[in-house]
Amino acid sequence: MTDFSATRAMFDLPDGVIYLDGNSLGPLPRAARERVNRMMAREWGGMLITGWNRGWNGEGWMAMPTRLGDRIGRLIGAEPGHTVVGDTLSIKVYQALAAALEMRPDRKVVLSDSGNFPTDLYMAEGLLRSLDRGHELRVVAPDAVEAAMTDEVAVLMLTEVDYRTGRRHDMPALTARAHEAGALAIWDLAHSAGAFPVDVAGGGADFAVGCSYKYLNGGPGAPAFIYVAPRHAGSARPALSGWLGHEAPFAFDLDYRPGAGVERMRVGTPPVIQMTALDAALDVWDEVSLDDIRTRSLELSDLFIAEVEAACPDLTLATPRSHDRRGSQVSFRFEHGYAAMQALIARGVIGDFRAPDIMRFGITPLYIDDSDLRAAAATLADIIENRLWDRPEHRHRQKVT
Ligand SMILES: *Cc1c(COP(=O)(O)O)cnc(C)c1O
Repeated sequence: MTDFSATRAMFDLPDGVIYLDGNSLGPLPRAARERVNRMMAREWGGMLITGWNRGWNGEGWMAMPTRLGDRIGRLIGAEPGHTVVGDTLSIKVYQALAAALEMRPDRKVVLSDSGNFPTDLYMAEGLLRSLDRGHELRVVAPDAVEAAMTDEVAVLMLTEVDYRTGRRHDMPALTARAHEAGALAIWDLAHSAGAFPVDVAGGGADFAVGCSYKYLNGGPGAPAFIYVAPRHAGSARPALSGWLGHEAPFAFDLDYRPGAGVERMRVGTPPVIQMTALDAALDVWDEVSLDDIRTRSLELSDLFIAEVEAACPDLTLATPRSHDRRGSQVSFRFEHGYAAMQALIARGVIGDFRAPDIMRFGITPLYIDDSDLRAAAATLADIIENRLWDRPEHRHRQKVT
């Protein structure tokens, strides 16, 4: 059994804060600060450019993208050697879609849903515009995806867990449906990796992408990851053909030749400081069973839903009640959700808000327990009952909500 009091002790959380936003930015793992400090002093400071070959325990910084890719790959059910980290998730979405579209040259539709995170749709739009080959981005309601899976579809591109409601798609079933229709499937695991067990290999995903700063706690701006199924690894053509995805970057050839397997999805110089923090953050997962995380997350979510529903009749649950249809967050709709969330944050309960009216609460058993959730629900009840949100300072919209 995972020892959740031990995992909690691995994080540096400010006193008096109940942190329910680890679905957006994971907290600081204690080991990350020390690891980054040491890397800065001994490696950047001491080794200078030789760190590319000698840093990171002698393996060289240059090995980190694939080695960290494998550490994340283990958490998403990927075959070893088929996941690499780098860049931002928006970039990884672009790369996966561009490669997948090249594999289905006779088809013109990219199918996605309105629950997808906007950047995924924006990146697709931009790619289709620059391809200029008559592609269409078709966005349907989440529960209409299956019916929209026609033989016009080149690529099904979905995010498994809806960032607003926490609704979870059935990845294996929709992937099988896409394959039956002759399409490829790309899954965005931004709200899945580290939230519950994922099985990209078993589920048949062609490509998967995700970020490492949410449930994986890699820190603000931590690099994204991409998985390419082994059956495509030698044929996927990278659209962003940067030098570090070249077969031999230091041959400095004038022509591009894709690197071996998933290495071709590397683009440019990797962010070593950020990867050092991510590496330390991933150590936490060595102590954890994802099945235990899932069981605990569902218990905690059910508890929070019950407490809030009992005390706050003005709030409406936006997250599906059925366990197999949700990820690891709980969302409520409330007309004055933004101001209510600001009032909550002022009292030390940190969640966030997504327009137009969603109050989001990330459920992260690594460092959150039932007493935190009971206290958070009680504070929320006080704010709603006594209209404590109804103050000018809570209505003022900040840039990041
Ligand atoms: C968080 C998130 C992103 C963020 O993309 P970045 O390029 O890392 O800013 C993209 N897609 C989904 C589905 C997300 O949840």
